[in-house]
Amino acid sequence: MIVRFLKDGIVRGGSYSKENGIISGGEELKLEGLFILPPCQPSKIVCVGLNYTKHAEELKMPLPEEPILFLKPPSAILAPEGHIIYPSASSQVDYEGELAVVIGKRCKSVIAAEAEQYIMGYTCFNDVTARDLQRKDGQWTRAKSFDTFAPFGPWIGKIDPSSADIQTRVNGRVVQKSNTSDLIFDVPKLVEFISSVMTLEPGDVIATGTPPGVGQLQRGDSVEVEIEEIGTLRNFVV
Ligand code: MG
Repeated sequence: MIVRFLKDGIVRGGSYSKENGIISGGEELKLEGLFILPPCQPSKIVCVGLNYTKHAEELKMPLPEEPILFLKPPSAILAPEGHIIYPSASSQVDYEGELAVVIGKRCKSVIAAEAEQYIMGYTCFNDVTARDLQRKDGQWTRAKSFDTFAPFGPWIGKIDPSSADIQTRVNGRVVQKSNTSDLIFDVPKLVEFISSVMTLEPGDVIATGTPPGVGQLQRGDSVEVEIEEIGTLRNFVV
């Protein structure tokens, strides 16, 4: 799996495995004591709304005929273990655990059948949302874009995105439990649809939507998004 980290103040890349820890520049490093960075530096984060049937139902929103897209700015990115800052403008901040796609090669107008060759891999994403502001504003930019509202990581792995278990935990309690086989629009279709609109650059992130069970975060909470065969993204709300 692909990892980025800080060591002695220098940004480094490497590969991570449970068995060997981090290997970077021929050196074997222990995970403990390293500052793990978000695993890539997207020029944009493209998010998909309402991509699990049951999540649309719980929000009482009709099922989309095409993917609903919105963007999060790169300024919202947060590293694994970082602090989600609860904004004073909101009184309902929700977690949304999601599978994220990381683009590996620049692409435009890709067909679904060829999408895989443009994908570097997959990681965990938390589409943190100020739900009250999302309702109030009618469009989603403010609600989705506060600094620290786009935690992702901890690393990028190659998995089968059509059948991965995904789980969100708040303070250790399971609050979302699903499988990406329930996605309305699967990963190849999303790459086709999004790349028909905009050029995707290496490192760009697509957050594929959240399963049912969204709920609120409070200051002091820990929140984890775990995806089978990738790992766990953990953050703290302050
Ligand atoms: Mg979402």
